[in-house]
Amino acid sequence: MILVLVEAPGDEPSAQALTFARSLGGPVAAVACGFVPEGVERAHVAEGEAFAGGFAPDAWAAAIVELVGRIAPTAVIAAASDRGSDVMARVAARLDAPLAANCVAARAGEDGWAVTRVRWGGSLLEEAVLHGSPALLTLAPHAVAAAEVALGEPVVETFAPTLADGDLRVRAAERIGAAGGGITLSDAHVVVSGGRGVGSAEGFAVIEELAGLLGAAVGCSRAVTMAGWRPHSDQVGQTGTKIAPEIYIAAGISGATQHMAGCRGAKRLLAINPDPEAPILGRADWAVIGDLHEVVPAISAAIRKARGE
Ligand SMILES: Cc1cc2nc3c(=O)[nH]c(=O)nc-3n(C[C@H](O)[C@H](O)[C@H](O)COP(=O)(O)OP(=O)(O)OC[C@H]3O[C@@H](n4cnc5c(N)ncnc54)[C@H](O)[C@@H]3O)c2cc1C
Repeated sequence: MILVLVEAPGDEPSAQALTFARSLGGPVAAVACGFVPEGVERAHVAEGEAFAGGFAPDAWAAAIVELVGRIAPTAVIAAASDRGSDVMARVAARLDAPLAANCVAARAGEDGWAVTRVRWGGSLLEEAVLHGSPALLTLAPHAVAAAEVALGEPVVETFAPTLADGDLRVRAAERIGAAGGGITLSDAHVVVSGGRGVGSAEGFAVIEELAGLLGAAVGCSRAVTMAGWRPHSDQVGQTGTKIAPEIYIAAGISGATQHMAGCRGAKRLLAINPDPEAPILGRADWAVIGDLHEVVPAISAAIRKARGE
């Protein structure tokens, strides 16, 4: 039995983790805190006041550890999302077991689990053997596409984990909606990002206009978040969000390794930069050598014209 953490109803990274777990063979069960997940064969649902409020990573970890003691899964898998990584690190500490983070492949063997995992912001794939039982893994974002499976009603077992006082010391108190009008960076089909070349927070008006016309999410580089022009939730990269859109439009971004680590999954890249030597041009499918403050409004104007607006 492989246990998969489902973070929230309809959560895409959790659906990817479920698909990955199913590909490994054997039965799969979900564990969820405070809700019954859909699209699963079997679900263990932690109930109680601790799971009704905001995200409490220690309480979630306590629930998983209690369940592991009871059902003895061969592996516990979560998405390498903010929450999945947070919870699984705590599960590993409580079980005093190793955790293989950011895996893209795994196979159970006699000497442990052979895993392939993404290191150094995506520039290195590491082959490793994970010892310990159960095997604790997180799945790198977009390592697999979530597959929809036709399942009947899940078999649901609820349980009320025993919690210590400290398990609620860390708890999300408030949730602030994404700034991008509902399109999240990690799920967007098109992302339009601006870098230091945008020049100011106000300069992002042209980026937002194009993103609005394309139904895209707005992203940015770390130079931008460091300057306080955009929130960290907009940052693409090694220390930001990993994206996998059909088209990534990067304007005023040089293409540092740490930025490219976050957009490696993009199917097509359009770079807009006046510097023909900018590293990002070496990775781009299309490039416009020019000032984004001229090029981006020109693209928006062309889209409006083509739509007859
Ligand atoms: C541990 C670590 C983690 C990091 N994590 C991240 C991360 O997650 N994401 C990330 O992005 N960075 C990250 N960085 C920072 C990264 O190394 C770069 O410093 C950063 O990506 C640079 O951002 P930039 O491309 O916007 O700025 P610059 O490198 O300064 O590039 C600006 C570009 O804009 C162009 N430009 C200037 N004017 C215009 C104009 N008018 N029109 C069009 N183009 C113009 C320039 O030619 C240049 O190519 C990290 C660094 C470290 C050390």
